[in-house]
Amino acid sequence: MRFSDFTDNGGKKVVFLNNCLLNQTSRAPGVAFREGASTELIQILFNNGLNIEQLPCLECIGMGGVSRKSFDAYFPLLSNFVKNGWFPIVKPYFKLWLNNFGRLCKKEATKVVDRMEDYIREGYTVVGVVGMNDSPTCGVTKTMDIIDFTRRLVTAEETGNTPKQIIQETLIDGASFFIGNIMKELEEREMDVKVVGFEPWTESPQEEAERIATLLNLQF
Ligand code: SF4
Repeated sequence: MRFSDFTDNGGKKVVFLNNCLLNQTSRAPGVAFREGASTELIQILFNNGLNIEQLPCLECIGMGGVSRKSFDAYFPLLSNFVKNGWFPIVKPYFKLWLNNFGRLCKKEATKVVDRMEDYIREGYTVVGVVGMNDSPTCGVTKTMDIIDFTRRLVTAEETGNTPKQIIQETLIDGASFFIGNIMKELEEREMDVKVVGFEPWTESPQEEAERIATLLNLQF
């Protein structure tokens, strides 16, 4: 007999959730889309007897915590450059900074897929991954043009636009730094795990939760 031959009531099914579906404080300043966790979706996951793994918030890790301090530090400088029409000068440095962030996301994505592979190898079911379809880091089918977003954000005080409005205006099709790399890694390892994108700005959180449940073949 092996240790792993023991059985229990754990359910053996797990879903990987984007960090801010459970914790809105991870969202960048000004872009929390509700108060607290996404209870409508989580309730459905509970009702289906699923275990939940919370993915790390890569922006909190790679951009200086909940206030994104390493981004915030350059905010006044960026703001001056944009106002004076010099944004093209700083753009290459910004891209370099983003490349470093992309490398961190890739490394963490590999670890997440290692964990999924372990589950599957040991006979567990990975029901899916739920990402966040307004994020440059966690978007699945939609992401954000983060350079354009930043250009507009640093002048938000003058233009009167809110971060929420700027997100809507800078959304583009495509996958993101972190979840995009998870998807790539799954494909390379030929692992059949569904990855779906939650729409955070929906009018009806309940309908959105049900849409996600349908994509993951869950009951509601
Ligand atoms: S979308 Fe991703 S990076 Fe953004 S706050 Fe949520 S978990 Fe963090």
